[in-house]
Amino acid sequence: MRVAMIGTGYVGLVSGACFADFGHVVTCIDKDPSKIERLGRGEIPIFEPGLDDLVARNVREGRLFFTLDGAQAIKDADAVFIAVGTPTRRGDGHADLSYVYAAAEEIAGLIEGFTVVVTKSTVPVGTGDEVEAIIKKTNPKAQFAVVSNPEFLREGAAIEDFKRPDRVVVGTEDERAQAVMRELYRPLSLNETPIVFTGRRTSELIKYAANEMADLCEKVGADVQQVARGIGLDKRIGGKFLNAGPGYGGSCFPKDTIALVRTAQQYGAPVKLIETTVAVNDARKKAMAEKVAAVLGTDDLTGKTIGVLGVTFKPNTDDMRDAPSLDILPALLAKGARVQAFDPEGAKEAAHMMPGVSFVAGPYEAAQDADALVIITEWDQFRALDLERLKTLLKAPVVVDLRNVYKPAEMVRAGFTYASIGRGA
Ligand code: NAD
Repeated sequence: MRVAMIGTGYVGLVSGACFADFGHVVTCIDKDPSKIERLGRGEIPIFEPGLDDLVARNVREGRLFFTLDGAQAIKDADAVFIAVGTPTRRGDGHADLSYVYAAAEEIAGLIEGFTVVVTKSTVPVGTGDEVEAIIKKTNPKAQFAVVSNPEFLREGAAIEDFKRPDRVVVGTEDERAQAVMRELYRPLSLNETPIVFTGRRTSELIKYAANEMADLCEKVGADVQQVARGIGLDKRIGGKFLNAGPGYGGSCFPKDTIALVRTAQQYGAPVKLIETTVAVNDARKKAMAEKVAAVLGTDDLTGKTIGVLGVTFKPNTDDMRDAPSLDILPALLAKGARVQAFDPEGAKEAAHMMPGVSFVAGPYEAAQDADALVIITEWDQFRALDLERLKTLLKAPVVVDLRNVYKPAEMVRAGFTYASIGRGA
């Protein structure tokens, strides 16, 4: 199969490289010239474990291409994927669909023969209908079907998640489109990965779904049982994802919960549980700087130096979108502290976003002469720090562990004043 992937970010690049690895011919398209230039030189613009080898191999074997001008690839494609960003729209919290709709217009003028247009971006219910309308209006003769195929990969484990998912959700009732999607994901069905075919609106909602969904399903015309199946197959629902921390962040969850809240309000079926979750999470991130101040026994941190380990929203990614550090570090600065931080992959991006923070070369440099060391992201290299060395470097042996990496008894025995999350003083 020939695939055109519009948008070569975290999702587009990983999906494109994985589809190429499945044996399809994939062209990844992006409008960002520097991204395409770097990919052309064999550089990977994001940090994602294993992606460099996967991309290099498929480029070498002639199945993976990168371009600024996708016209020919879209013409030739059996399936065109839309994997552009859907950030929170300024002002009202809805998902900003302008990139998706712009991509739909571009596609409309180019497709030839029967083409499957797949939304892989996370989009609110009804977006597929609008994409279909845009293509029909721009090119009334086009033969196509619009399919929803939400992506569930996690940054940091994206290739594994794409190649060994718990399930693939495909929203379309068009049989020709189903056949194309089945062929694209054939290597997975050989592994017995369930491919769940649903209506398009149901598929769109599966990505956003949670409790309180049945009412909303009725209003938007989705099927709650299929939604439940689509969610229930996700093995991440369970203890593994119930670890306490400084609040959730990342490129997806924060914006997707807000967008779901807005969609539900719009349909008159508000999802109160999720509204509360969003509010609690915002308050939680802000409270973390207070926690650090409380451990130091003063709200005024003037003259204090705080060492910070980890600024990305989770380990094994350089993605800084909505990371809790973006709330916590500025709040510490506002209290008068000097902040010196280390992150293995996120420092470059974070430095632009938090100009008041100085970034240092390693975890021990972050501890040097600090009044407290705060662990914000649980990178592996922070799990076995030399505690004796830390103690000699720190001005005072104070550790605030917002990821519960260390055991309280062990830290107290080692002579630290230690605070963590939900495990007593
Ligand atoms: P991203 O910002 O990393 O990448 C989007 C890319 O699309 C950018 O490189 C941008 O230049 C490009 N683009 C935008 N409009 C374009 C156009 N008309 N033509 C060509 N290129 C265009 O975003 P992402 O993290 O890959 O997310 C993409 C979508 O996937 C979002 O809807 C997101 O919610 C969803 N998603 C993300 C993840 C994740 O872990 N990042 C997981 C699942 C789903």
